[in-house]
Amino acid sequence: MNDSATDVLIVGAGPYGLSIAAHAQGRGLRTRVIGTPMRFWDENMPIGMFLKSEPFASNLGSPVPDRGFTDHHPDWGMGRPIPLDTFVSYGRWFARQLAEQAEPTEVVSVDHDVAGYLATLATGETIRARAVVVAIGVGSFAHTPPELAPLPADLLSHTADHNDLSVFAGQDVAIVGAGQSALGTAVLLAEAGARPRVVARAPELSWNSVPAPDPSWSSRLLRGPQSGLGRGWRTWLWSEHPEVARRLSDRARQNVLRNTMRPAGAWWLRDRFDERIEVMLGQRITETCEADGRAVVTTVSEHGHPQIVTADHVMAATGFVVDLDRIDVLSAGVRGRLRTLGGSPKLGSHFQSSLPGLYFGGLTAAASFGPVMRFVHGADFCARRIAEHIASNAPVTTAIPAARASEERLHATH
Ligand SMILES: Cc1cc2nc3c(=O)[nH]c(=O)nc-3n(C[C@H](O)[C@H](O)[C@H](O)COP(=O)(O)OP(=O)(O)OC[C@H]3O[C@@H](n4cnc5c(N)ncnc54)[C@H](O)[C@@H]3O)c2cc1C
Repeated sequence: MNDSATDVLIVGAGPYGLSIAAHAQGRGLRTRVIGTPMRFWDENMPIGMFLKSEPFASNLGSPVPDRGFTDHHPDWGMGRPIPLDTFVSYGRWFARQLAEQAEPTEVVSVDHDVAGYLATLATGETIRARAVVVAIGVGSFAHTPPELAPLPADLLSHTADHNDLSVFAGQDVAIVGAGQSALGTAVLLAEAGARPRVVARAPELSWNSVPAPDPSWSSRLLRGPQSGLGRGWRTWLWSEHPEVARRLSDRARQNVLRNTMRPAGAWWLRDRFDERIEVMLGQRITETCEADGRAVVTTVSEHGHPQIVTADHVMAATGFVVDLDRIDVLSAGVRGRLRTLGGSPKLGSHFQSSLPGLYFGGLTAAASFGPVMRFVHGADFCARRIAEHIASNAPVTTAIPAARASEERLHATH
């Protein structure tokens, strides 16, 4: 296919990519958003799951006022969990409202030269863009603890590898972790007829409290306001003002990331978490191996007592850790030019990386903007900032040479 040119190329069509597309298009930028809308949610989260985020914290971002989840579902109040398929349908409805539609293919590579960015799609098409936004979500960063590595692939997986947990009916499944993903997966496995066992380092399970939709003034003053990430003054700051988190020292921001929204189960999951689920807390995994086609997991308790667990399958519910080297859609040359914070790109106040014209949204931005970037609630802030920056730094691209001029302008203003 022939080369084409655009102002903005967005890699990924999840909540962040779609929100960034809406804001970029709202500013008159020519925008290509590449990816099947809501694919990760549709294919890599378990059927039967409910969102942990409240409806008001599950809005995608748009300059058009009626595009939020709560606009689309006006009767969906606080305290009513959203089923996964309802959220996927909402995201796909949002995608259909875009002026330029998301394209259900993949970006296979992004490179950079004097003329700007050059992206190649799985269709073979190449696209020149003066700005690229990486909104690839969490899927590339699934983290499995190294202690589990000796297990063969058929005995070990990550929660993000699964959509249909009914394939585990009748099996013993050890789930490693104690956050919402571990506890939610355990419940869904039990409901699907499997025998789940949660194995965690945490000494006890934590559960979120039931949200009070309209607390008294005194309670609001004392406990802090309700925000997208939960209740509390600090939580409100990181949730509603991510620019403040960006101005902290890297070390202080790391602490905020570590201590905001610690692993806990959603309040509505607690009643479903019953005696069908075995729980082993305060356990550190020391060794794993395969024996007679089953996984053997050796743990040691806080008091030094060893235990052995066998299972038909082990599932890591151990989250996602950003690692720039895993963003293989970016060429090695592009990755090599990025300043980093831990394994994440270091971003400026408009989510721009150290390579002018290259932006990051979602989990990859959390190291710079704090915990809200791990959640849908951060999408509108991120999208507004990126669109504003791209629009204010260069005129709309009409031909490839213009991309070169734009890139130089972005460089000058970074
Ligand atoms: C089990 C689970 C439950 C969660 N529940 C909640 C919740 O209740 N509330 C909440 O706010 N957050 C929740 N999260 C976090 C959630 O993942 C993020 O909030 C959200 O997905 C961020 O949106 P995103 O667009 O950055 O990422 P994603 O939704 O992951 O979207 C990125 C998309 O990019 C696509 N992509 C990747 N590479 C390419 C490429 N090269 N070309 C084209 N497309 C590409 C992927 O297929 C994916 O569809 C949950 C996460 C998990 C794992």
